[in-house]
Amino acid sequence: MSAGFVSLVGAGPGDPALITVGGAARIAEADVIIYDRLANPALLAQARPGAEMIYAGKLPDRHTLTQDEINAALVEHGLAGRRVVRLKGGDPFVFGRGGEEAEALIAAGVPFEVIPGVTSAIAAPAYAGVPVTHRALASSFAVITGHEDPAKEATSINWKGLATGVDTLIFLMGVGRLAEIVDRLVEHGRDADTPVAVIEWGTLPQQRAITATLGTVVRAVADTSIGSPAITVVGEVASLRERMRWFDNRPLFGKRVLVTRTRQQASGLSRALAAQGAEPVELPTIEIVRNADPAHAGRAIEGLRTSLYGWAVFTSANGVDEFMRHLCEAGRDARAFGRAQLAAIGPGTAGALRRHGLRADVVAERYVAEGLVDALSHRVMRGVHVLIPRAEGARDVLVDALEAQGAAVDVLPLYVSAVPGQVAPGALDRLRSGGVDIATFASSSSVRNLVQMLGGDASALRRTRIAAIGPVTAQAVRDAGFDVAVEAAEHTIEGLVAALVADAAAAKE
Ligand code: SAH
Repeated sequence: MSAGFVSLVGAGPGDPALITVGGAARIAEADVIIYDRLANPALLAQARPGAEMIYAGKLPDRHTLTQDEINAALVEHGLAGRRVVRLKGGDPFVFGRGGEEAEALIAAGVPFEVIPGVTSAIAAPAYAGVPVTHRALASSFAVITGHEDPAKEATSINWKGLATGVDTLIFLMGVGRLAEIVDRLVEHGRDADTPVAVIEWGTLPQQRAITATLGTVVRAVADTSIGSPAITVVGEVASLRERMRWFDNRPLFGKRVLVTRTRQQASGLSRALAAQGAEPVELPTIEIVRNADPAHAGRAIEGLRTSLYGWAVFTSANGVDEFMRHLCEAGRDARAFGRAQLAAIGPGTAGALRRHGLRADVVAERYVAEGLVDALSHRVMRGVHVLIPRAEGARDVLVDALEAQGAAVDVLPLYVSAVPGQVAPGALDRLRSGGVDIATFASSSSVRNLVQMLGGDASALRRTRIAAIGPVTAQAVRDAGFDVAVEAAEHTIEGLVAALVADAAAAKE
């Protein structure tokens, strides 16, 4: 059997975006992944199905696997011919014991590589607004273990050299021994007024950071109960945080926001939320299930081609995509619309049309059915055939209004917004256990479906602030028995995010 291969991969400091391209590729190819506590588990989602996951644990006081056991596991899987990823927080060679693992692999003759990672020593300060060097303030930095007992006689740390010879001192693993570290530095000549920053869970949505001085930091840490994992930065650069803060002061920072759109549509909202500092929690509550009657769809397409319809009216991006799929399967393309005019309920739907090379002649100004009714109210509809491809069971407001104007309306049901067959279990558990601050809804069916997914007990939703994209969705929330905390003024995804930002700003005042 051919020997396997071990990659010692740096997972980065926490934010899953901070893994390297090479590291992410190794995770995707791995047969076995042995990961640490400080390697973000979100990265494991990129592994291929069936890859074996081994948690190597490591809490400060409790080892799930000892270092010897980890070394032995790496060697064993390597010799068994597997592609092994050893995923370690930050960089594998910065206090990660990666060196010991490499030695074990060399001794056993297992080929290996090292994929460096972004170390927390630099990234946690960066996300707190502290550059470890700065032209005017610091031209050197040192990364130091705080784990070693600074009081022990034969310390391997050169306290005198560090205290007086290095501008920025970065301590890892040191919060538990902060008092001794401070004493040693001051005793060896560092000014007690030197600025200090302590950053807990750096680069993650739960990041907390404080600034103080050597003289006050022990007290400040005790007051805020900041604990492991944390980085302590000692030096003039720590004072820059007040001006350079950029991450933990974003409008939605620290907010865990439930995204209930379909798996396909979730990412746009998640990205917009993350850009404002929120942590998106994706829990798809809708799965588009196609259920069009093929004969009806065929007649509709024929009707378009023969200019039967004066209008085709779209009330959702999904409706556009599904109709275009039918068109495509019938061997047709956008030309089938011929002279029919196109109406869209809002910019999202108009955007979906545009992606298929179609321009909406009318876009409602208020992105609800009533808005579409207004937009079409001054058009001649008497005797005009109108095609409405849409979800089954949608509201009748639009149909009634068009019929009242004398139109012959043909509603073509294309899909239902069903409860997903497979539920994301992690996200549902998080919602149930209070791990969500805000729940967002972009449609009535997402509200109804989530309530159904929560089974008998929807009380978890009562602990969240509920945000609705518009009045119809808000009404669905109230019909389900919950309060609406935020309703977007503009009924788009951007409008929803803007409303959340405004809500958070108001709460801070
Ligand atoms: N190899 C890692 C360090 C491992 S030692 C790296 O390069 O980052 C573990 C210590 O790293 C923790 O005790 C803490 O001091 C620090 N650490 C790791 N991740 C951190 C984070 N997200 N925020 C603050 N400190 C972190």
